[in-house]
Amino acid sequence: MKWSLLEKEYIVVVTPKEYGSILEKMSDINWIDTKSRKVYINTTNRKNFVLTIPWNEKMNYKQKKKIALYSIQTIQKYKKGKINLGMNMEGRNIIGLIIFQDVQSMEDISVLDILKTAMLEPKQQYEYIYDTVCKKLDKKFQENDYCEFKGDSCIANRNGYTKDCKMGCCYSFECVGMLNIINRRQCIHLQNKHCDTACIACKLYTCKYLREKGIYFDCNKILIIDCFFNKKQKEIIQKNFFKTREQILDKLLEKNKMPYWLYYLKDECKVK
Ligand code: SF4
Ligand code: SF4
Repeated sequence: MKWSLLEKEYIVVVTPKEYGSILEKMSDINWIDTKSRKVYINTTNRKNFVLTIPWNEKMNYKQKKKIALYSIQTIQKYKKGKINLGMNMEGRNIIGLIIFQDVQSMEDISVLDILKTAMLEPKQQYEYIYDTVCKKLDKKFQENDYCEFKGDSCIANRNGYTKDCKMGCCYSFECVGMLNIINRRQCIHLQNKHCDTACIACKLYTCKYLREKGIYFDCNKILIIDCFFNKKQKEIIQKNFFKTREQILDKLLEKNKMPYWLYYLKDECKVK
């Protein structure tokens, strides 16, 4: 059993066996099953509920998204005071149980990030999603050594897939019209061979060489992005290369009522 603090409330990650014994000990709890979307009323008090979230990272994406969205909706109702979540366990207020087969690392449980995000206010939500995705992408690139840097030269540089023979793809440019590229130069954020900001678009990007090897990241398949960001916001995080974390976060908070097709055509997602 592992505890995770959201705001003031806790989520507990339990194995199916531990869940069984909690059910036995706490027979007077009303449960909201996020998988079946059924509510199990076990008490005369029909006001207090606890979420049960059966989770397995190997479930198909559609199934994970369905559970995640239902959990978010329920937490939103809780935040608006439309439903009461919580039970007391060992002096802590528990709003949900994640039932996870093999509790090894809390980092491996993607729904935990979803629940943490759902408890935050919009500005904090964006910051949390942004930093979480950047951290996970950095880890993935490091662990898998996708770019295979040797000295200052990456695998795509060495195989002649890029114009440049060093510094990977950290070269900024501007697009005039559809095809005209101007002001191409080493990115100003590349300082002492390291990026001085956290640009999520750059982190999501993979070059032609990596894409041909099947390495690419689709915002519609990254659960935390897919569940919280709309189409316009997905454009913002995918297309603003060479920008700072703060510039992109500010852009995510912008309200824009333009229809999506016009927003897309006018490239309104770009940080000016
Ligand atoms: S994404 Fe491609 S070009 Fe960029 S650093 Fe990695 S291997 Fe090199
Ligand atoms: S902003 Fe992008 S292109 Fe510029 S240094 Fe950072 S990762 Fe490289």
